[in-house]
Amino acid sequence: MGDCVCPLAKFFWKRLCPKKINIFNWLAWKDRILTLEKLASRGCNRLPMATCVLCHAAIESVDHLFLHCSLARQVWWYFGRLLNLLGPPSALHLIWDRWRSSVRPDCRDIGDLVVKSIVWNIWLARNDYMFNATVVYAHALILKIDRMLLTWISTAAEGPTSKLEEHSSTIRQSLEFHNTSVEGSGDVPILEGGRDLHTG
Ligand SMILES: [Zn+2]
Repeated sequence: MGDCVCPLAKFFWKRLCPKKINIFNWLAWKDRILTLEKLASRGCNRLPMATCVLCHAAIESVDHLFLHCSLARQVWWYFGRLLNLLGPPSALHLIWDRWRSSVRPDCRDIGDLVVKSIVWNIWLARNDYMFNATVVYAHALILKIDRMLLTWISTAAEGPTSKLEEHSSTIRQSLEFHNTSVEGSGDVPILEGGRDLHTG
């Protein structure tokens, strides 16, 4: 029993991503974070409903918040197109085995980081909206994720992880585009794959 090693351990706990983000992703994957659905099931939800605060269209479960919410769909669609990743799985519990194994091998390392950054930043955006009433737009979220990915890649520029460098120019271009967009106006760029948040 003591020799049993989780097959995910080989790639999941790589150092590129900060430990707290790895841990959060692990908990989300195991459906152990305190979504409104989870709080309601424990009788601890202080809100009158467990509806997603970002879209008000469904119960806030891990699958809804990180995969199916309008904000999540836009971000997944964007990075899928940008980095040749698959569309997201139907359920978060599929992401680190079935979904990951379907990603092109040369895109798996960057795909791992994209998943972790998307999940982490959606959670922060959700908390910002819930606790600070800060409205979150997809392009601002994409910008944050671009910055995070470039920071992580810059720490992994040597050794076997250097293949991540191949993706950095693509992400840098994305960052420059969204930087201009955020600084230039408050409008939300039109993205395919889902409606923009809070624009009807
Ligand atoms: Zn939602």
